[in-house]
Amino acid sequence: MSDCCQNCNKAIRSHDGVHLMGVEGDPGTLLCGRCYNEMMSVSMELDFEHPDFAPISVTDCAGDDHDFEFRTHLHGEVVKIDALEVHNGEVKGYEFSVLGDAEEDPMDLFRVLYQRMRDELGKKYLTNADHPQIAEGSVKGRVEWDEETDGDLPRLVIDGREISWHEMGRMLMSYEGWRFELEVHDCDDMVGVVQADSDES
Ligand SMILES: [Zn+2]
Repeated sequence: MSDCCQNCNKAIRSHDGVHLMGVEGDPGTLLCGRCYNEMMSVSMELDFEHPDFAPISVTDCAGDDHDFEFRTHLHGEVVKIDALEVHNGEVKGYEFSVLGDAEEDPMDLFRVLYQRMRDELGKKYLTNADHPQIAEGSVKGRVEWDEETDGDLPRLVIDGREISWHEMGRMLMSYEGWRFELEVHDCDDMVGVVQADSDES
């Protein structure tokens, strides 16, 4: 069961709804991404047309397919396109984002996003086993809320797989006595690259 957009009445995909807060006593308005973007671009007087990117499947380097849906939302004069892996309609696994100027051609941003997806799915940081190991001494992934620990400890998503903090600890123990480095990055760190490209035109 899904909610419907209060403007166009179309069903809203679980990850695409935008809830506009109402003033006191008003429950607010639920909009689909397209209606929200259209409202935003009119009020900001932006030259922006909502792009509909069809779902795609990307094959990883182990030959497994990953299904992605796209979400495009305006944040002021910035547009953010997310690629979200879905399993049976539920968002789960890989996530990628790209940010750019709202008046830039969305296809240019999409190409950057798609290349990023291909690059990441083209490598594996963990061995492909029920109890994986770190394949080559370095790991990249995403930090998520883990309801099992009520957010006390993170859940990681590496290679599109959910990895508990406990499991990460188990994997690290095969490096007992080694040193390690830990860096964290904003998921939108791609924006600098996109802006550098668009500055040239
Ligand atoms: Zn709508």
